[in-house]
Amino acid sequence: MKKELIIFLGSPGSGKGTQANMLKEEFDYYPLSTGQLLRDEGKKDTEEAKEINRLINAGLLVSDELILDIAFKEIEKVENQTIILDGYPRTLKQAELAQQIIDKNLDKFILKKVFIFDLEETALIYRIRNRVTCDKCGKVYNLITKKPEKVGVCDACGGKLMNRVDDSEIDSILKRNRIYKTNIPDIISFYEKNNLTFLIDSVKDLKSINQEIKNVLKITNNKSEV
Ligand code: ADP
Repeated sequence: MKKELIIFLGSPGSGKGTQANMLKEEFDYYPLSTGQLLRDEGKKDTEEAKEINRLINAGLLVSDELILDIAFKEIEKVENQTIILDGYPRTLKQAELAQQIIDKNLDKFILKKVFIFDLEETALIYRIRNRVTCDKCGKVYNLITKKPEKVGVCDACGGKLMNRVDDSEIDSILKRNRIYKTNIPDIISFYEKNNLTFLIDSVKDLKSINQEIKNVLKITNNKSEV
């Protein structure tokens, strides 16, 4: 069976991770967040881990080659689940490298859709400042709209909820958004050639966006037909 891939791109705080997790809960889709994979890598005691942490904390991207390696190693592990690539690819080069692998393995992979989550800067700063993440499993909460049941504790695994280091500085948030805005037009053009892109207005509420995504993917009874 081919591995189905769906891409979610958007500014930090635009809600792509939350929507990926909603599809996980409803349809057992597999959210693959390259940011989370990097944070896990960053916990190791290696020189590479130190460099990853330095880049993340500075609001910069890690190299296109490293992220390709990390993302596809994880993709290879997933069996029988539709994979949502949350925050990958983030540069044109990443999109091209990923596409080369998909094109060489058309019997193995199918890229179904690329969703672009659009949100203006003031709204995303507000959201990120209220975001806390589980230190252990990476689950994301919002202290206003999606609170944990117990303050500071993850509902899913009991882990400790923390502010991400790269979310605590407004400069880092703005820098990540600037990098995103610089790179996204080329990525959209790349995928538009194959009619794969769909723009989401992230101001809408979570349920409406979830429904919009399901409509686009024509998901019914655990099956998608795009
Ligand atoms: P956000 O969407 O809020 O930036 P993520 O968890 O998706 O949060 O990413 C956190 C950080 O991980 C990014 O700022 C960047 O340093 C790094 N990162 C994540 N995905 C990629 C990628 N595809 N390419 C390069 N760096 C990445």
